[in-house]
Amino acid sequence: MSKLAIKGGERVKTTPFPSFPIWDKEDEEHLLVALHSGRWSIGHEDSKNPNNKKFIEQLEQRMSDLQKAEYAIAMSNCTAALDVAVKSIDIQPGDEVIVTPYSFIASATCILQAGAVPVFADINEKTWNIDPDCIRKSITSKAKAIVVVHFGGQSADMDEIRAIANEHGLRIIEDCAHAFGASWRNAPVGTIGDVGCFSFQQSKNVTCGEGGVLVTNDVEIFKKAYSYHMSGRKYGGQWYQHEVLGWNYKITEFQAALACSQMNKAEKLDSIRSKNALRIIEALDKIDGLDFVKTDERVTERVYHLLTFTYDPKCFGDISKKRFLRALYAEGIPLLDGYKYPIYKNGLFINDKKHDYSIYEERCPVVEKKCEQGVWIPQTLLLGSEKDISELIDAFYKVIENIDELRR
Ligand SMILES: *Cc1c(COP(=O)(O)O)cnc(C)c1O
Repeated sequence: MSKLAIKGGERVKTTPFPSFPIWDKEDEEHLLVALHSGRWSIGHEDSKNPNNKKFIEQLEQRMSDLQKAEYAIAMSNCTAALDVAVKSIDIQPGDEVIVTPYSFIASATCILQAGAVPVFADINEKTWNIDPDCIRKSITSKAKAIVVVHFGGQSADMDEIRAIANEHGLRIIEDCAHAFGASWRNAPVGTIGDVGCFSFQQSKNVTCGEGGVLVTNDVEIFKKAYSYHMSGRKYGGQWYQHEVLGWNYKITEFQAALACSQMNKAEKLDSIRSKNALRIIEALDKIDGLDFVKTDERVTERVYHLLTFTYDPKCFGDISKKRFLRALYAEGIPLLDGYKYPIYKNGLFINDKKHDYSIYEERCPVVEKKCEQGVWIPQTLLLGSEKDISELIDAFYKVIENIDELRR
C-alpha cells in the first residue's frame, strides 16, 4: 500500500491555502472614491470636487515617508520605474551596468532599454543576493552602475556595495520589487543607493494589480525621472513642453487608491509571513539536502516575498527536484520551482548577435546551481494559518520518509 498521495495515498492537506490578494471594505471604498472623483489620472485635477482624494499624491507621500525618500514618483509598474531609473542616472549606449542574473527579467532589460550592456555578477550561496566580490571582478572601465535586487525580501549587502560604488564612481539602482518594508542596518531599502524601484504587481506582498514607485533623494534624478515617465515633459514646464524622449508610464488613480488601502494591511500580513517562515526554517532547515536561505545579521527588517531553499537530490536517493515537488503538490503543497535558468540564458540574450552572454555560465556557478536546485515558498503560502503551516511541514516529512516510493 502506497502512502504518498502521488501514488494513490491520502493527501496531507485537504484544504487550500488562503487566496490572494486579500481585500475588504476599505479597498472597495477607495476604488469608489477614485471613481466618483472623476479624476482618474494625473493632469485632470478638479480641486472643486470634494471627492478628489488625490490617491496618486497620497501614495507618493507615503512611499516618501516609509522609504525616507525626498522624492517619490508613482508609475504604471516597476518595470517602467526601472527603465526610467536607468535613464535618469544618465546611462548611455555602450555603458556597462552590473546586475544579478537571478531575478525577474526586468532587472536586466532596463539596462538594454538604455542601449547599455548588462554585466552579470554571481550571487552569494547563502543569501541568494548579488555577491560583492563578484561585482568587483565584473568591473571594467566601462562600468557605470549596479542594479541591486533585494531578492526574496532580504536586503543585499549594501555596506560593501556602497563601498564598491564609491571606489569606482558607480551609481546604484535598487530593485525593491520583493522588498517593500525591508531595511539594512535600519535604513529602508530604496534610498541606500541613488534610486529605488518598488512593485505593486499582483504577485508582490503589497499589490494593486499593477503599479510601481520610484524613490530617490537626488533632485536631479527626480526631475529626470519625472520627465521620462511623463512623455518627456519638462519638470515645472508647461503641459505640452517636451524636452526629452520619454514614455507614458503614469499610474492611474484607481491603482493608487488600491495601493494605499492595501498598504494599510502590509504590516499585519508581513508579520504573519515572517512568523510562518521562521517556523518552516526551524522545522526543515535541519534536514540533510534542504538548505534554506540565510539572513545576514545586518539585515534589520527581513520581509518574506519568497522563502527559498535548495534541494539536493543526492541526499534523497537521486529523486529529482521536479519529482519531489510533484509529490508535495499531490499532498496539497504547491511550491514553485523558481527560475529554470539565469537571466542570461533567455533567448533575448542567447540570440544577441553583438554580445556573447555564454561566458556567464562559467562565471556564475552559484546562480546556475540555484536555478537547478532552487525552490520557492511564495508569500501567499506564508500567509497560511498555523494549521496550514503544520500541514506543509508534515507533508515534507511524509514525502521524505517515503521517498523510495517515488522511485517505483
Ligand atoms: C516583479 C518584479 C519586477 C517587475 O515589476 P512589475 O511591477 O511587474 O513591472 C522587477 N524586478 C523584480 C525582482 C520583480 O520580481
